[in-house]
Amino acid sequence: MYVMIICGAPGSGKGTQSDLIAEKYNLLHLSTGDMLRSEVASGSELGKTIDSFISNGELIPDELMEDLLCHRIDTLEPHIKGVILDGFPRTVAQAEALEGILTDRKLKVDALVDLDVRHDELIIRLLNRGKTSGRSDDNIDTITQRLHVYAEKTMPVNNYYINKGMYHKVEGMGTRQEILDRICSVIDKTMSQK
Ligand code: AMP
Repeated sequence: MYVMIICGAPGSGKGTQSDLIAEKYNLLHLSTGDMLRSEVASGSELGKTIDSFISNGELIPDELMEDLLCHRIDTLEPHIKGVILDGFPRTVAQAEALEGILTDRKLKVDALVDLDVRHDELIIRLLNRGKTSGRSDDNIDTITQRLHVYAEKTMPVNNYYINKGMYHKVEGMGTRQEILDRICSVIDKTMSQK
């Protein structure tokens, strides 16, 4: 099974590009943000706790995220030929846990694509999305906090994968198609090396 991670700051286009890649390569798009939002929508007690982290622009604790991801991987349908992890790992502890989770299942990360988008463009995109997304975290105060948390806790994850030779920085500015083409060249190369 091919495993790729798509990462980048909030608003960098991870979700949009993951959907395009999933369709083109017949991979499963696993978005931890979507999983968490559906738990919130269920109205469960856990969902209420998750909602308070998301609405404040904070990360959900690592242990909870690791359990969630582990469970999702263990319930993958057998015909799945690959997954795109969107939004996980977001901390170095999650990256280390992911390695253990995958190794235990005889899997490994094949590539990490980091979408690189200018800071001012991220804010414009997120504010625009907030007009229609209905998301509790697409407002300027939470966006500011999310970008701060990204710089502090998630950017160090890049070094973890740079050191393992799996890191690919991709220019995330331009049209959807231009960005997709750049990502596809990384996927084509890393899939052929598998
Ligand atoms: P996203 O849809 O990827 O932008 O995620 C929305 C929010 O969900 C984030 O701001 C976090 O509060 C939470 N979240 C998603 N993935 C993770 C993760 N791997 N670890 C911790 N929190 C997460």
